[in-house]
Amino acid sequence: MKKVVKFGGSSLASAEQFIKVGNIIRADKERAYVVPSAPGKRFSDDIKVTDMLYACYKLAAEGKDFKKELDAIKARYQEIIDGLKLDLSLEEEFKVIEKNFKEKAGDNYAASRGEYLNGIIMAEYLGYEFIDSAEVIFFTESGEFDADLTNEVLSERLSHCKNAVIPGFYGAYVDGRVKTFSRGGSDITGSIVAKAVKADVYENWTDVSGFLIADPRIIKNPQAIEVITYRELRELAYMGATVLHEDAIFPVRQQGIPINIRNTNAPEDEGTWIVGSTCQKSKYVITGIAGKKGFCAVNIEKDMMNSEIGFGRKVLQAFEENGISFEHVPSGIDTMTVFVHQDEFMHKEQKVVAGIHRLASPDSIDIESDLALIAVVGRGMKSTRGTAGRVFAALAHANVNVKMIDQGSSELNIIIGVANEDFDTAIKAIYTIFVETQL
Ligand code: ASP
Repeated sequence: MKKVVKFGGSSLASAEQFIKVGNIIRADKERAYVVPSAPGKRFSDDIKVTDMLYACYKLAAEGKDFKKELDAIKARYQEIIDGLKLDLSLEEEFKVIEKNFKEKAGDNYAASRGEYLNGIIMAEYLGYEFIDSAEVIFFTESGEFDADLTNEVLSERLSHCKNAVIPGFYGAYVDGRVKTFSRGGSDITGSIVAKAVKADVYENWTDVSGFLIADPRIIKNPQAIEVITYRELRELAYMGATVLHEDAIFPVRQQGIPINIRNTNAPEDEGTWIVGSTCQKSKYVITGIAGKKGFCAVNIEKDMMNSEIGFGRKVLQAFEENGISFEHVPSGIDTMTVFVHQDEFMHKEQKVVAGIHRLASPDSIDIESDLALIAVVGRGMKSTRGTAGRVFAALAHANVNVKMIDQGSSELNIIIGVANEDFDTAIKAIYTIFVETQL
């Protein structure tokens, strides 16, 4: 068995956290390849090293003095080195960084130093080989991740190391210029490494015991999901549930490598397994609930709409012409509603309305704002009767007015539209009926 383990920023924010991580890795010989993030927050108002680096580099790029800011970053690493009692100095590394900042090496380079330096410390602490990700993870000239070249170079390189530390978040163009993934991108690196070594599992260690059934800001201590499929995860992630970078799924998904989300602060918890498919039923009929506020509904009415061929296309063309993507389009006999993101739609609203009038000649158009969409997701729904009934009964009891219902043909999710102000109440009602009453 081979495992790739990725640790997030909060798992590596201090020497104390590093020690927990060291214990986790040493407890299992199979944890052979380690992908660290940069040091994250030690307490809630702390600043992540990545953010410190961006801010520091901004000064450098403006030609301003950045010594104080760079010293603060140095101090974060020194605190870890001292706490681990390592015989390691990053002095030379910081000289190079300072010089490159002065030469305006770019903010991608600057941000990448967070994981680069943490990787050096981690390799020293574990006695593992350090591999600079700029030598093994590649981007094309147009800035796309180059999966084929990366896999070729990385798997060849790792086939010669029993153990290695490969810093997360960055790689390089073929000419050596450093480029980062988008924020949270160390998750992607972990997945790429797991694919390259054909790992049996990709463990993603963070500060929660897995992917939670609902948002903990709305539900107090929600339970963690035990097993979730990639497709379910995608539905929930799209609706705002975050635990893993969206793009982290693709490399391992192709290879059928499961992801196990684990908690560095509670390593005994089994966490969440993210898998391709499973015969394991989820504990409850639903796997998870997620949602987002800030949608608008554009209601379009026209008598005899049902018999007018091409009406829907003309309406949607008005959105397309204005570069607005739509989320859902429920329709009736003489009505059609288009759900869009409010912030995207707001400044183009009158143009879109004029466009619909011009292209489709409706009888009336009415816009409703401040709506929320909630996704109730679960592979178990397909084989269970009455799920929708229970969702709507729960919402009715909680006095929530349902504005829109959309069940995808996959029967994997039910999307519900409610007013923004009913958002929390609706999620609580759904969680209670499916999870707390354990039916
Ligand atoms: N350190 C980077 C960030 O803060 C990448 C990561 O942690 O995954 O976004």
